[in-house]
Amino acid sequence: MSAPKIEVAAPFAVQNKPKAHKKAIVLFSGGLDSTTCLYWALANGYTCETLTVTYGQKHAREIKSAQKIAEKLNVKTHFLDIKLPWLVSSSLVDPAQPLPVHPVEEIEQHAIPSTYVPGRNLLFLALAGSLLDSIGADTIIAGPNAVDFSGYPDCTPAFYQAVACALNRGTQKGVTEGIEVLAPLMHLNKADIVRLADSLHVPFELTWSCYAGGDKPCGQCDSCKLRAKGFQEAGVKDTSLN
Ligand code: ZN
Repeated sequence: MSAPKIEVAAPFAVQNKPKAHKKAIVLFSGGLDSTTCLYWALANGYTCETLTVTYGQKHAREIKSAQKIAEKLNVKTHFLDIKLPWLVSSSLVDPAQPLPVHPVEEIEQHAIPSTYVPGRNLLFLALAGSLLDSIGADTIIAGPNAVDFSGYPDCTPAFYQAVACALNRGTQKGVTEGIEVLAPLMHLNKADIVRLADSLHVPFELTWSCYAGGDKPCGQCDSCKLRAKGFQEAGVKDTSLN
């Protein structure tokens, strides 16, 4: 695959040994951000396998996107379905809780919203660490963002730095060779993520960001609003809305 070399700060490389060929696990939901991470990783020479975790979300629309995009890229996938009954505290999981609706300019000013899934990224990164040791990968790549986001505590630089330290101390690969945890989107705003995705030829029409299910994005949830703001500011057409 030919793609432009993208310079994006990846500040969480605890150890970054130069290797001719690196294998990465990309935490991959089928949404815009994680799809951009996958395309970024491939463009930067990583051999990628994806890890997609379902945890009882109200809908599995994103998973279809993840499958289609992985097929298109011909990358190896790992799909995992975990059922933790207490995650029902999140409005992404509990069918009885409505999704919150905020004006886009207020999304980051609200307290941690009901869409927060307790410990989700901690769980995902622990699972990625287990997979990494099993398949001999060097790198974990995830798509958290601390600029245009909903204020989740497990999307912050401090959290990812701490997890990178833990994985380097608590995995075989970590203690013998060192591993990297990369969060290439962490300091980009949504418009910059869209621009990066556009430059990498991400198939927007295959990605799914909406918290609600259905055939088309709802346009009302926080995720839809942040996505729309990003495309608008970047001056790029979101082909998922066709
Ligand atoms: Zn939505």
